[in-house]
Amino acid sequence: MKFDLHTHHQRCGHAIGKIEDYIHSAIKTELDVIGISDHSPFFAEEEDQAFAGSAMAKSEFPSYISEVLLLKEKYQDRIEVLLGMESDFFPEHFEHYRKFYSQVPFDYIIGSVHYVNRFHIFDKKRWNNAAECDLLTEKEQYYQLIQQSVHSGMFDILGHMDGMKGCNPAVSDIQTDMLDLTLKVIADSGAAVEINTSGKRKECQAWFPSDDILERACHYGINVTFGSDSHDPQHVGYEREQVRQRLKEIGFKHWVFFRGRKQQRVAL
Ligand SMILES: [Zn+2]
Ligand SMILES: [Zn+2]
Repeated sequence: MKFDLHTHHQRCGHAIGKIEDYIHSAIKTELDVIGISDHSPFFAEEEDQAFAGSAMAKSEFPSYISEVLLLKEKYQDRIEVLLGMESDFFPEHFEHYRKFYSQVPFDYIIGSVHYVNRFHIFDKKRWNNAAECDLLTEKEQYYQLIQQSVHSGMFDILGHMDGMKGCNPAVSDIQTDMLDLTLKVIADSGAAVEINTSGKRKECQAWFPSDDILERACHYGINVTFGSDSHDPQHVGYEREQVRQRLKEIGFKHWVFFRGRKQQRVAL
């Protein structure tokens, strides 16, 4: 059972191709399951499209849902299409987000912390003139937000969980107990951690999360899943087989995907 749960498309303003192009690519790479998980709109902002180029407009949300549901039906004999979303997590707004999600027949929601202290984690400017102590503070705040996102109970999957290293690989060398505390919180919640291969195309040139984090995740009995975080149909399933091999080497026995928000176990 081959799956990829993390894909975007042109609606967000920074990906190319239509949803259907990602489905075609998934069929071509012989996946059994393709999850569509575009970025959540900025529900708490007043404007319809507060940050064009970051996410779909609020008014696009219903058409996104109906398009994926239509394609799910259209392709049911060739591939299983799942309705997902990569949701931002803002501690001050999550109840507002929850209201929008509660009316939708999602298969799963990926919770991703993208903003720490108002800066996007993949924004290179945030690291200009940053001292080592800043890195520690930022890293701890980042993991604190991930813990809060887990406590919200809104998410089936945690997206790119050491994503902060993406544009500043040095962040990985900063030691903090917060990482292990976060892993314990995730283990208790039953949420899955995604191995996200898009980091290979960023400055860190590595998957999210790193192997050492995955080894600890395995020790704590955390479930894992896979997402290419494709913003181009060509990247669907990117390095899926290498991830599967690595997970087996680390000691994982299975990985999971979600159908109707219920976890499905697949042997590695
Ligand atoms: Zn994106
Ligand atoms: Zn993301």
